[in-house]
Amino acid sequence: MRATLVNKKRIRELRGGDIKSGPVLYWCSRDQRVNDNWALIHACESAASIGGGVVVVFNLVTSFLGAGARQFGFMLRGLREMETTLKTKGIEFILLEGDPTVTVSEFAKRCGAALLVTDQSPLRIGREWRKVVAHKSQCPVHEVDAHNVVPVWEASPKLEVGARTLRGKLEKLYPEFLEDFPELPTVGALCSDAHDAVLKIGKVDWEQIISRAVEAGAAVPEVKWALPGEQAARLTLEHFLNRRLKLYGLRNDPSKPQALSGLSPYLHFGQISSQRCALEAKRYSKTASQAVAVFFEELVVRRELADNFCWYNPKYDSIEGQKYEWATDTLKLHAFDKRPYVYTLDQFEHGQTHDDLWNAAQLEMVHGGKMHGFMRMYWAKKILEWTESPEQALEFAIFLNDKYQLDGRDPSGYVGCMWSIVGVHDQGWRERPIFGKIRYMSYGGCEKKFKVKDYISRVCDLVAAVKAGDNDPAAQNPGCFNIDFARASVGTAALAGTGELPQAKCTSVCPAEELTRLVRAAVSAGLENTASRAMDALNVLKDTPVTAELLVQTQVGKELKRVLKQGSGTNVGLLAKALLKAWKTVLTGDSV
Ligand SMILES: Cc1cc2nc3c(=O)[nH]c(=O)nc-3n(C[C@H](O)[C@H](O)[C@H](O)COP(=O)(O)OP(=O)(O)OC[C@H]3O[C@@H](n4cnc5c(N)ncnc54)[C@H](O)[C@@H]3O)c2cc1C
Repeated sequence: MRATLVNKKRIRELRGGDIKSGPVLYWCSRDQRVNDNWALIHACESAASIGGGVVVVFNLVTSFLGAGARQFGFMLRGLREMETTLKTKGIEFILLEGDPTVTVSEFAKRCGAALLVTDQSPLRIGREWRKVVAHKSQCPVHEVDAHNVVPVWEASPKLEVGARTLRGKLEKLYPEFLEDFPELPTVGALCSDAHDAVLKIGKVDWEQIISRAVEAGAAVPEVKWALPGEQAARLTLEHFLNRRLKLYGLRNDPSKPQALSGLSPYLHFGQISSQRCALEAKRYSKTASQAVAVFFEELVVRRELADNFCWYNPKYDSIEGQKYEWATDTLKLHAFDKRPYVYTLDQFEHGQTHDDLWNAAQLEMVHGGKMHGFMRMYWAKKILEWTESPEQALEFAIFLNDKYQLDGRDPSGYVGCMWSIVGVHDQGWRERPIFGKIRYMSYGGCEKKFKVKDYISRVCDLVAAVKAGDNDPAAQNPGCFNIDFARASVGTAALAGTGELPQAKCTSVCPAEELTRLVRAAVSAGLENTASRAMDALNVLKDTPVTAELLVQTQVGKELKRVLKQGSGTNVGLLAKALLKAWKTVLTGDSV
């Protein structure tokens, strides 16, 4: 039996020492959520053990890696929701601004922190910040990997060759780390020093901060389809698992973008935990085993492989980051091959190449904020083909990816560009001009895989909707996810951005056997003309949560129609009719 809620292997002591009395600070950076957050759980558990309170600190760095209104707006609106949720748990939230190595250290000192907890990031800048803060700190500093299912330092002690070498290591560790999350421990009140320090920082003026960030980053405007925050993230996950998981086999077809989960922006900002996504997905292992296995591969293996790459390789975004000579040698050998086209950064940025497919991908990213996953590979490989050198290709690809993707500035982004251009985590392929042995992709190959015209026309519609200022999020939705947040549990307050959110309704779905049993009970009572029993069964069914997948799997609608036929015009018939109508709405996707 483990004595603590958080597995000790998830925690690295950046600065050791005893935890004395005082408040516990959680310097939240990469994992911007209240639920399912191992770093926050560790902070609350530590505070509870010393009878102290917790303050969550977020430090805003306004020039963070070239982020614009799109990324800042999404992040700040998510943080506003976080503050509201923390309040319900008696936890203070403060927003600092500036260099975290100064602001966080000073705040910790001012409030006499007993412990400083932070989350994990494998990126250079985040690691450097944590190192300096730990160095300056007067209290212990603990780094918790709250982002990965298996903590990056536990998954492997070294840079992995690729998915095939990491997969087995992760699998061995799932029994230990892929566990349910405990409740957040209740924390005590803040001591007067901490209380004063919080008061001195003052209340966050969200309206002012968001409008300032949105104005400053106006060159890359916000997108309307992705509602930020934990509740929206959870609804996106549920919508995907309940309604779109069965399409996941089509994830490499950019003309069918609704096959993807759409989770990457939420995962990037830590508004949802990948472990929560993995646990929920596992519940579908029996009904959609293939889709769950593939989703798991992307969500856990590929994503954690990207963290492994950046954690053990500080040159994760440059050619020298490729440690395998077959790749660096081949790129050198072909560095002077004649390029069929050479475009400037400006031409790339405006989608002005000769290739309508490439231009569509670029515009999907510029206007929609999320390029389809398959197109990202084609897009980056063509940048290699149409620039002066691999170095320039990598520079352009990372610049554009970080500037426009809502999920940009992420280990998966750096590794995605490195995989496409430098062959990281890949193998050598048949040699050809410019690419050498780096895997090649062509327009013709895409035409064989999916309907290129359909993809281009979808992007044209998206761009037209954005340019026309269409306020319908569905029209501006690069993933065509059609998640109607307004009609789902994230209420109008969230859409208006007040931060006063109703709790997300996360109802558990009825098991298939139970649904079938209830319908059979209603049908047999209806056929026997036992109206009261039929009404009882139908009333239970009326309150039973169902998903489209469940309705398709059980085919209970067809059976219920027998009651409708039999009891037409009676109360039983009317209730059966209303129920069938509600199920039809679930099936056609008019509500979440
Ligand atoms: C050139 C290039 C650039 C990329 N840039 C980014 C980026 O900036 N940010 C980013 O999060 N991902 C990036 N990816 C990886 C991948 O394309 C996206 O994660 C995916 O398209 C996100 O959409 P989704 O959540 O709907 O995908 P889904 O297919 O539903 O995947 C679910 C989750 O699995 C993870 N995942 C899926 N594919 C990959 C992958 N190839 N590598 C690592 N993790 C993966 C992501 O966390 C994703 O959210 C890039 C890939 C390439 C080739």
